[in-house]
Amino acid sequence: MRILVLGSGGREHAITWALAQSPQRPELFIAPGNPGTAALGTNVPIAATDAANLRKLVRDQGIELVVVGPEQPLVEGVADALRAEGARVVGPSAAAARLEGSKAFAKAFMQRHGIPTAPHRTFSSEHFDEALAYIDQHPEPLVVKASGLAAGKGAVVCETRAEARRALRWMMEEGGLGAAGNEVVIEAFMEGEEASVFALTDGRDYVLLAPAQDHKRIGEGDTGPNTGGMGAYVPAPVVSEAVLERVAREIVEPVLAGMADEGHPYQGVLYCGLMITEDGPRVVEFNCRLGDPEAQVVLPVAEVDWVEVFDGVASGRVADLRMPPARRAAACVVLASEGYPGRYRKGLPIEGVETAAALPDVVVFHAGTQRTAEGQLVTAGGRVLGVTAMAETLTEAIRRAYEAVAHIHFEGKYYRRDIGQKGLARLAA
Ligand code: ATP
Repeated sequence: MRILVLGSGGREHAITWALAQSPQRPELFIAPGNPGTAALGTNVPIAATDAANLRKLVRDQGIELVVVGPEQPLVEGVADALRAEGARVVGPSAAAARLEGSKAFAKAFMQRHGIPTAPHRTFSSEHFDEALAYIDQHPEPLVVKASGLAAGKGAVVCETRAEARRALRWMMEEGGLGAAGNEVVIEAFMEGEEASVFALTDGRDYVLLAPAQDHKRIGEGDTGPNTGGMGAYVPAPVVSEAVLERVAREIVEPVLAGMADEGHPYQGVLYCGLMITEDGPRVVEFNCRLGDPEAQVVLPVAEVDWVEVFDGVASGRVADLRMPPARRAAACVVLASEGYPGRYRKGLPIEGVETAAALPDVVVFHAGTQRTAEGQLVTAGGRVLGVTAMAETLTEAIRRAYEAVAHIHFEGKYYRRDIGQKGLARLAA
């Protein structure tokens, strides 16, 4: 089968890797891909949002199945465009991708369908004064969020009302996030531990992947600025079987039923960003694709034929899929460029990837890398590599991941040394 993966990060390398493990031996194309995906298939220099050229590629290469990695193409309707070309596509329509693309839509949808989330109100920029009044009338802390896509920078957790007012001004008056801030959601702060649960769905039936946890902050102990994600591990013990059952009944099922009822059946990956509170799971946000780095742990531990699973999602056959519970744990440590998420250098030579990747049950996923004309692997982004190790226990998976990390070298290599510690602490409790 000819399969196209859209995107160029660690998540897309993980998707491509998962497909490449299939006994069906698919022929893989990646647009645009990275040096990691180049080793598994054919990288095609087309942007993941370039619908016109992707349609042509699907036609010219006879692509049957497309897996969309990032959110931007989904929100822009690339899945619709490629389905119109006759391909089966893993990923929601633009209308359904509003669950991620518009926080205002997602919050109103959750309210309509009684899905547990933080109490909130949405304001458009002409109602700036009312938004200020809302902040004054509600207890601290508050969370101020731009409604539109903001590459993970759109939410500001505000300890005080003064901070919330500042965040509101920055988004609405100063255009700090461009058009994404034309509409702003203000919501109550939820206490708890965060976790990610992924449902793969054809719009009617669904299967859940093992719950994961990522590490958004740059610094150890969850300190410093937010990043795209500095590491992940699976399974996340904070999501017990009982909690997962509640996520299925109280969140995933009402979302699928609600989206279908409203005429926008949701097909693809439903990423539930959750706060596990004392009262149970609450939705922080929905995303319309796999998380990155979570994809780098949830895909490798699932012992399935990923061609069969993704094709089942895209062709309405999820009811026939068998998704055995993951038996193993995995940890992924992200290696970043010094200075990230601020300014950082590029083009620094990377050594030791092959040595690390040759260790048993270790996979090194590429994110911000490039190959020079001479074939040297160099850094090309903030998050450079994701080093994943699998094992019977979380403790062992973490140990192996760091052992592999030690083999990889580039100037200014930065990583967190506490990936998975939260999970270990909970297991020990
Ligand atoms: P990303 O794309 O990085 O996931 P985003 O800009 O879409 O982020 P959210 O995921 O909604 O925004 O929020 C980012 C982070 O802010 C969350 O992961 C969580 O740590 C925190 N946060 C958001 N809303 C709340 C809330 N109501 N209570 C507590 N923390 C929250």
